[in-house]
Amino acid sequence: MPTRRTVLRTGGGLAVASAAAVSLPAAAASAGGDGWQTLRSRLTGQLVLPADGDYPIAKQNQFAEFDAAHPQGVVFAENADDVRASIRFARRRGLPIRTRSGGHNYRGWSTGDGLVIDLSRINHATVTGDTVHLGPGAQSIDALHALAPTGRQVIAGTCPTVCPGGFLSGGGIGYQTKKFGIGSDRLVSARIVLADGDVVRVSADRDPDLFWALRGGGGGNFGIVVDFEVRPIDAPRLVFFNTIWTWAAAQQVFAAWQQWHLTSPRELGSAAIVMLPDAAPGNEPLVIVTGGYHGRQAELDAELDRLVTLAGATPTSRSVADLPYHQGMVTAYGCDQLTQDQCHREGTNPDALLHRTGLLREGYRFFDRAFTPAELTAVLAAWDADRVPGQRRFLHAMTLGGKAKQPARDATAFVHRDAEFIVGFTTQLDAPTPESVAQAEAVVAAGSALLDPIGAGAYVNFPGSHLPDWSRQYYGANYARLLRVKRRYDPDDVFRHPRSIGSPSA
Ligand SMILES: Cc1cc2nc3c(=O)[nH]c(=O)nc-3n(C[C@H](O)[C@H](O)[C@H](O)COP(=O)(O)OP(=O)(O)OC[C@H]3O[C@@H](n4cnc5c(N)ncnc54)[C@H](O)[C@@H]3O)c2cc1C
Repeated sequence: MPTRRTVLRTGGGLAVASAAAVSLPAAAASAGGDGWQTLRSRLTGQLVLPADGDYPIAKQNQFAEFDAAHPQGVVFAENADDVRASIRFARRRGLPIRTRSGGHNYRGWSTGDGLVIDLSRINHATVTGDTVHLGPGAQSIDALHALAPTGRQVIAGTCPTVCPGGFLSGGGIGYQTKKFGIGSDRLVSARIVLADGDVVRVSADRDPDLFWALRGGGGGNFGIVVDFEVRPIDAPRLVFFNTIWTWAAAQQVFAAWQQWHLTSPRELGSAAIVMLPDAAPGNEPLVIVTGGYHGRQAELDAELDRLVTLAGATPTSRSVADLPYHQGMVTAYGCDQLTQDQCHREGTNPDALLHRTGLLREGYRFFDRAFTPAELTAVLAAWDADRVPGQRRFLHAMTLGGKAKQPARDATAFVHRDAEFIVGFTTQLDAPTPESVAQAEAVVAAGSALLDPIGAGAYVNFPGSHLPDWSRQYYGANYARLLRVKRRYDPDDVFRHPRSIGSPSA
């Protein structure tokens, strides 16, 4: 998902909730009464209540839209015992639980009006033997830096502050995916706190059904993961590249990029982004093809020459840098001119500079093939239609394929094994009004209506602003098994959000 920073950089029905969940007096929570102090005293971590000065920041997610949620408490858990105490406390009081690691869910599934259990302080990234242990709250940028001296790295996406809690639970797609697979395919085991407070380490040998579900079944469904053990990737260096093309060449560049991916080596992972930082009529969109190559720069240079030939157009800008892996990823994150602390969401540390997004609407689908010329013409026309000042607009596409296609569709909960691309329409607003929100939603709805009939399912980590048939789109034939796992491990539906396993779907 492109961020505002990308813009700047490139200049270019299971059990029903207990009624008590909503009847706990907010005043009691604010004052720390009604058992909240007992919870607080049991935690190694921190409980933040509405009356506390740090509450406004403590409840923030990546998207300001969800500041409208008012959790009765936010627990910053520091270990599995904190998580267990929080789950038991919430269950005794019938408080709905939401689990949060990086807070990047586009639909606000990691916040709500009950108890938010935040994992941002369980953020280790350590090497033990042949594997890497990641805390659910290890932001990509921090894991990257922590692992750099070890020579081991992990699959991560294109945002520096996304966390494994959601990323790995839903799958995990990055520039590394074509060569090394989906992030969750590299999971060896996970330590998880279950609805009854039990803490178990699940793997292929221990609770294999739950282990299967944790690899692509989506976060916030089965329990709260406090440690992911993953197989590292062998990536000492990354050749990062960024090319910018004119809007006039958009059709040929996007078509060429799709052909390029389908005929390029596994070492090449990339994204194509058509963007308008302000969709006012008359503004000129940019087309960007960017990514990372796991090989020698000379090979990547030759591949880029091939892209130019396929496109029959020349980029207005082409930059390539062969870098140690972690520096390549820092550059891909747009943080190469920032300190590690600055490369964090504002409010999370005193130096943090990355802005939150006001409101985002999106609609993505997987594709097993390239667009036909007619499909692409229609997609670009829909993306360009009904321009509105003050709206940011993206057509965003990433590559999968390669190693991600090897496992069978039912090998893990991640079903999208034929996918070569994920493509989506995104709109963003800084200062939403009812009218501008309706306009932003209309663009995404028009785009989704075009993508849906030709697409091959949707990605739970890009959940879709409007997706009535989400269970089929996210999980296909794997949904039946996910329901069974849910009933076994969370029979009371403690871990629930609007599209959690078992929730109503059209
Ligand atoms: C700017 C941006 C760029 C992105 N780029 C990519 C990309 O390149 N590739 C990609 O694959 N995805 C990408 N994503 C999507 C991202 O993978 C998902 O939003 C992911 O779910 C975020 O995880 P999180 O922990 O940061 O968010 P959260 O909102 O904290 O969590 C997301 C979901 O997981 C649940 N959850 C969180 N922690 C846990 C836990 N410990 N145990 C169980 N459930 C948990 C939450 O309840 C919620 O339902 C991007 C998102 C953004 C905003």
